[in-house]
Amino acid sequence: MSAVATTRSVLTLTPHPLQRCGAWAAARLAGRAEPAAVTPDDLDAVARRLIDDIVAVSSLPKKTPNPDWWKVLFALYPNAKPTHASRTRDPKTLRALVAGLFAPDSPVAHSLPCTFCSAPAAVLWAKSHLPMFDTAHAVNTLPPYTAGWPVCRGCRVALWALPYGAWVTAGSATVVMCANPAVERRFVARNITRAERIQQLGFTGVPAGASAEAVTLAALRAHAADAPVDAVLWSFKNDNEKPWLKVSGTRQAAGRLLARIEAEPPARRGWHRLRRALAHPDRDPGGYAAIARTLFVDEHGSVDRLLLALHHEFTDPPSDPVAADGWRRLARAYQEEMYDMDVSRLGPARQLVAAWIMAEHNPRGRFNEYVKAARNSYALHELLVEASARLFRDGEQPPDITGIAPTLLSGGPDGWRWRAQLFFEVVADLVQAKASIGRKPTDDGNDADDEIGDTIRFDPHEEEVYA
Ligand SMILES: [Zn+2]
Repeated sequence: MSAVATTRSVLTLTPHPLQRCGAWAAARLAGRAEPAAVTPDDLDAVARRLIDDIVAVSSLPKKTPNPDWWKVLFALYPNAKPTHASRTRDPKTLRALVAGLFAPDSPVAHSLPCTFCSAPAAVLWAKSHLPMFDTAHAVNTLPPYTAGWPVCRGCRVALWALPYGAWVTAGSATVVMCANPAVERRFVARNITRAERIQQLGFTGVPAGASAEAVTLAALRAHAADAPVDAVLWSFKNDNEKPWLKVSGTRQAAGRLLARIEAEPPARRGWHRLRRALAHPDRDPGGYAAIARTLFVDEHGSVDRLLLALHHEFTDPPSDPVAADGWRRLARAYQEEMYDMDVSRLGPARQLVAAWIMAEHNPRGRFNEYVKAARNSYALHELLVEASARLFRDGEQPPDITGIAPTLLSGGPDGWRWRAQLFFEVVADLVQAKASIGRKPTDDGNDADDEIGDTIRFDPHEEEVYA
């Protein structure tokens, strides 16, 4: 027999996205930096907290509307004893039922390895207690000869600490997976604060305009100086009828891009303005959720949302050259970080298009032509030929665009990105040259707050937005 006894931690961080989020949450609720640091006493304390919170929302009389925290639990565990519609409302009975869920594993002869962390487990769980798992009738997906999935006590606590660490709504939950544990920890810490707010005040007590993407981006930004990592979001609903799972993520370069936006005031200004432009008065007053979404790619492969959003906003350009330059620089930072684009190659094409538009007494007409052509390689080709010919006829030597034309006019996504960048460059040049192409000088926003760091740092109201 070996003399070395291996001591196993009572809580393990596993690669399973839901267990992982719950393990971080349980550690945080225990006041520990890591799941591995959680002691048996800590685990008892976290279990007591879960039991108290569950009983508090599940034992209200039938006539009382269900509190929002109950809705959160119901979305994750619709068939569990404390969330079921026909549950007992007697706090004492309910408490005993809930406590049973987190009771220590009794040392039995035939314990099985935990489904998540492979620690010895004597309790079998299925769909009603494990979000996104099958019922115990799904014999094909169950471990052989068992009537459920073995789950150890630490993982049982983690799976029910999940709603504290996830971004929750009344019907769904979102967890983050990131190679940098500090990002996951931060995401969970934010959500715990929010969960406590939901428990006290309901969803009306948490500010509108935040989102799982925005919280993830804030965490990525806080660790942007570390090695670049990507982050993947798993959003799901554990519905009886129509459960769903959506996966979306950022690319690794998003971390570098965020660091650069932090470091470059013009790009930061662009980010800040785009955020405001994307704001929605009720849903997303600061635009935080909308701008965060521009850096995520979903399973349908919608990419480069940031460029699309900028393109959309730029079609009616701002009259302020500082604003136009900020947006152009944001696009540049994006193209350089995400695609390693050498933007200087656009120089001749940029000069040609701007010169052609400004040669007209009223440049708005030609600018509108360019807006239409900028989206399409064939139309842009025609416009560039026409612009060269016009300049030549007017006695000017048109810039030589033969170096960039094949790239710019290619039909693939690369060509689109180059044409988009050309558009941002040309518009910013025109606004700088005071060509009357855009909207009247109205509300271009007030950038005073940019100077005090109201950037992707999510501004002085950060705690407000995410608390
Ligand atoms: Zn386990």
